Amino acid sequence: MVDSTESESRKLLGRLRDAMAGDDPGQARLDKITNLIAGSIGVEVCSVYLFRDEDTLELCATQGLNPDAVHKTRMRLGEGLVGKVARRRQVVNTADAPGSKGFRFMPETGEEVFSSFLGVPIQRLGETLGVLVVQSKEAREYSADEVYALEVVAMVLAEMTELGAFVGDGAALTARHSQPVLMRGVVGQEGVTEGHIWLHEPRVVVSNPIADDPEKELERLKGAVEELRVGVDKMLAMAAGDAEQSEVLEAYRMFANSRGWMRRMEEDIGSGLSAEAAVEKEQSLARARMGQATDNYLRERLSDLDDLSNRLLRILTGQGKDTGAEMPPDPILVARNIGPAELLDYGRGLRGIVLEEGSVGSHATIVARALAIPLLVNVGRITTEALNGDHVMVDGEQGIVHLRPDDTVVTAFRDKMAMEAEALKRYASIRDKPAQAKCGSVVSLQMNAGLLADLPSLPTSGAEGVGLFRTELQFLIRNQMPRRSELSAIYARVLDAAGTKRVVFRTLDIGSDKVLPYMKPTDEPNPALGWRAIRVGLDKPGVLRMQLQALMRAANGRALTLMFPFVAQYEEYTRARAEVDKALERERRLGHILPESIEVGAMLETPSLAFAPTKFFEEVGFLSIGGNDLKQFFFAADRENERVRRRYDTLNVSFLSFIERIVERCALTRTPLSFCGEDAGRPIEALCLAAIGLRTLSMRPASIGPVKSLLMRSNLDEVRKVISDARHRGEMCVRPAIMEYLRAQG
Ligand code: PEP
Ligand code: MG
Repeated sequence: MVDSTESESRKLLGRLRDAMAGDDPGQARLDKITNLIAGSIGVEVCSVYLFRDEDTLELCATQGLNPDAVHKTRMRLGEGLVGKVARRRQVVNTADAPGSKGFRFMPETGEEVFSSFLGVPIQRLGETLGVLVVQSKEAREYSADEVYALEVVAMVLAEMTELGAFVGDGAALTARHSQPVLMRGVVGQEGVTEGHIWLHEPRVVVSNPIADDPEKELERLKGAVEELRVGVDKMLAMAAGDAEQSEVLEAYRMFANSRGWMRRMEEDIGSGLSAEAAVEKEQSLARARMGQATDNYLRERLSDLDDLSNRLLRILTGQGKDTGAEMPPDPILVARNIGPAELLDYGRGLRGIVLEEGSVGSHATIVARALAIPLLVNVGRITTEALNGDHVMVDGEQGIVHLRPDDTVVTAFRDKMAMEAEALKRYASIRDKPAQAKCGSVVSLQMNAGLLADLPSLPTSGAEGVGLFRTELQFLIRNQMPRRSELSAIYARVLDAAGTKRVVFRTLDIGSDKVLPYMKPTDEPNPALGWRAIRVGLDKPGVLRMQLQALMRAANGRALTLMFPFVAQYEEYTRARAEVDKALERERRLGHILPESIEVGAMLETPSLAFAPTKFFEEVGFLSIGGNDLKQFFFAADRENERVRRRYDTLNVSFLSFIERIVERCALTRTPLSFCGEDAGRPIEALCLAAIGLRTLSMRPASIGPVKSLLMRSNLDEVRKVISDARHRGEMCVRPAIMEYLRAQG
């Protein structure tokens, strides 16, 4: 931008600041602002449109259009050119507005006489507040300098926190942060909960968007960027040797040293913005682009830039993470995303977690499950909508967040919570009873675990033992490979906590969706079918051996139960079993105390293993069906793919018949069998699994109560008959028949 334009826009910003600071009532001030902009840029029309609710924009002030249209003209998001700017968060610049695609004629504004149109989004921290428009009769496209000047003005307007007060009949825009909002997400951990928002990354407040002394602002910016660079270099030095982390930080450094980023911010300052406002302007643009980027890599880089901007803002404003705000007593944590270690730091004090990004397989989800904290992921816009201290209700059954709920929602939601509390009381009353069905059959209910944080659930859930301890979680939540001594200490604590209850330690199950942050990723076309679990353990046995030793030392003379994941054929089991024997021998030679007894089993997660030779069934210590994987391979439907993962019902006759066949084979060879996939924790599914003969089910601790409650009220012989009748009738799935039977039972 040329100097003269720079000083022009600085002058305009100076005048704007005076107008904004004046004592005029809100509307008069906004009118003055549109007037000033139109005059300075030399256009006939300047208008401000603001959101009055989620998807309606309202004309709130204008210079040049019919003043009677103010607070009357409204359009929906995406409607007309103004709506298009708001939806796409992008500039629309055209010499021929009436001839443009999407133009909507609004006779009340008298705008048909204006040919050219320039609209820029008014946005703050990624939130679009409205649209600033200039128009003129002359058919011309606005120059890059004019577009830029208008963007700077929009940035300053966005900082007027009382902007919302201008929206007609009191439906204030700031009220967007005080009105109820319903948002949807994906359930990471079930549960309904209520509390108040606690932002993991508190917003940085920029109170001085306009600055008089550009030299001083440039100095401040340069100083802050220098501090940022030094900080990133320090992080890089600390990450030395950690290739993955270094790669991420290198990308950070590249941005921190980016000339383009710096130059744009310098230009913003030249136009009259303060250093903070310049950073925020670039951040808003990056966020708008982030919302549009379909390419994952690009999204990640834009998100790096977003993080860097936050750091820079904190340096400039001196606002650390600690803003002085106090965590509410019932915090619902809100974050764009969060790492497992940070989440563990918060611990059990959180009532709920809502993430804007994340996924059901993420490490944060694993931790939230261990801590039994309701979690929703993929809740778009939560970080921009929610403010610290806002009242919030999280429905981790339906995947809904009620932010600032109104009274009707509060009442209905509290009823739901009360019902859940009632059910919990009921489950607590049967906690120490066996899961004995009416027909007399007893099912052993065990829990799945993986973190130390899971262990308190062992006594409180009524689990008879840990049917699946996913050892990879300890590897996944760290930034580097854990040491043998560290693992051994953790496993010993698990065994201590379990006391006489049995713990089935599953050896490292990595690969596919479970990628260790510190291991070189293997670029596989189909990771679920790739180099994972025991395949890695056998090909590169170093880690497996280290883990086996850690487990044996943790047992320290106690009984030890081991299980290998993803065994697809007999030979894999025998090879893995041989590693156990070798490890035992090594421990003996080294003079360590050996486990009192050692049981070695395998997970049945591929259809192939169900058809292994009988000799395998005779030899293996026990089998546990990993239903999550088994189902995905049985139906050829990716468990991670939302589009297909629910397509095939566990109660599909084919799948149930297949499981029955496994039950029969195990019965013939007297091989102990359990089921430890997620389905074991779903009452109806668990009931059917028990009916077809499974006598050990391992599940999330919170599922034990509901599953036990249903089992105790059911007759497994009858359920088995319902299943076989449905099968004989040729039904594809037994669920409808089971549901009808249960309804009839009341
Ligand atoms: C399974 O596949 O069912 C299982 C229990 O293992 P994971 O979910 O850890 O793959
Ligand atoms: Mg599995």
